[in-house]
Amino acid sequence: MANSDPQPTQWSAETLAVHAGFEFDPQTGAVMPPIYATSTYAQEAPAQTKGYDYSRGDNPTRTPLQKALAELESAQGAYVFGSGMAAIDAVLQTMKSGDHLIAGNDLYGGTVRLFNRVAVDRGLTFSYVDLSNPEALKAAIQPATRWIWFETPTNPMLQVIDINQVVSIAKPHGVKVGVDNTFMSPLLQSPLAEGADVVMHSITKYINGHSDVIMGCLMANDEELLARLKFIQMSVGAVPSPFDCFLVLRGIRTLAVRMRQHEANGRAVAEFLNQHPGIETVFYPGLASHPGHAVAARQQRGFGGMVSIVLRGGQTAAHRLLTGTRLFKLAESLGGVESLIQHPASMTHASLPAARRAEVGIVDGLVRLSCGIEGTQDLVDD
Ligand code: PLP
Repeated sequence: MANSDPQPTQWSAETLAVHAGFEFDPQTGAVMPPIYATSTYAQEAPAQTKGYDYSRGDNPTRTPLQKALAELESAQGAYVFGSGMAAIDAVLQTMKSGDHLIAGNDLYGGTVRLFNRVAVDRGLTFSYVDLSNPEALKAAIQPATRWIWFETPTNPMLQVIDINQVVSIAKPHGVKVGVDNTFMSPLLQSPLAEGADVVMHSITKYINGHSDVIMGCLMANDEELLARLKFIQMSVGAVPSPFDCFLVLRGIRTLAVRMRQHEANGRAVAEFLNQHPGIETVFYPGLASHPGHAVAARQQRGFGGMVSIVLRGGQTAAHRLLTGTRLFKLAESLGGVESLIQHPASMTHASLPAARRAEVGIVDGLVRLSCGIEGTQDLVDD
């Protein structure tokens, strides 16, 4: 948006999604940014640039995307990475050998793999804690603790963590709080407003929304932290291509209307399954019976499109469902326009040790649904 335009916060989410980050190209009037497929930039004299010197540092198609993401999350700045995992790793790069991170005990399996099988070799240490239990969190904080990292709602159990409660425990100890906001998108939850230091998204999911890009981002308000993250982005170089940045900005334009339909479908599917005799448990924070419903209703602006269920009949029943749907495609990932179904125990969370899976409730009869934007009744029928 041009500087003279009203503050983005004055606009509705729908308007912001359509206009954030880029108004038009001043040279041509193009309403979408060109794809600047260039690695380097001619300089008039040594170090005399037009703002860009090398595309690992920045690129004119990446700039409007990062601006749009910051505006959507009401953050001072946003930086994008080649995947959600690369974004999380950039947070780990702010830590030194011996530093400690407290993680929520229900996390995407790939995040746990990064912590336990990559970052530990750099000397970082990790504790996994039920963050809905404030006493457990207080007991886990050590002098070396630098970060608390969690998802809310969590993947795949859809537990809701009270962000503000975690922040109020962390702050007196000088511990930073990072929230993986992937399941909500910037439209349904604002962890920075709840006091978090960093928000992360797997852009691969709702923000891009079309299952054709892998990307991640970090957003923050603190200038020193932002400067460090930008330095890490440029130095490590896990940056996305200009083409992918273009695609994601294109996806963002419809984020608000997509989230509305994801939510309508998630709620309808959850309510349908909640009264189905073949289902033992439905995990959907929008249901009044969900233990995190009250916190979700306060800190979220909606309940989203993710639903997890445990089938009566365990693995056999789950297998029949997983191979029996037509619209819900059997695939990893979530947040795309098309509905997906998957089996956490053998797919997204297979890399977790069996004991950890059992501890958080990832049983063989658990199935996770990502409700897309198809017709609501078609999904229920499927
Ligand atoms: N965080 C959550 C909640 C996820 O579900 C995923 C991927 O499924 C990631 C992070 C990792 O993101 P990416 O696949 O873009 O690296």
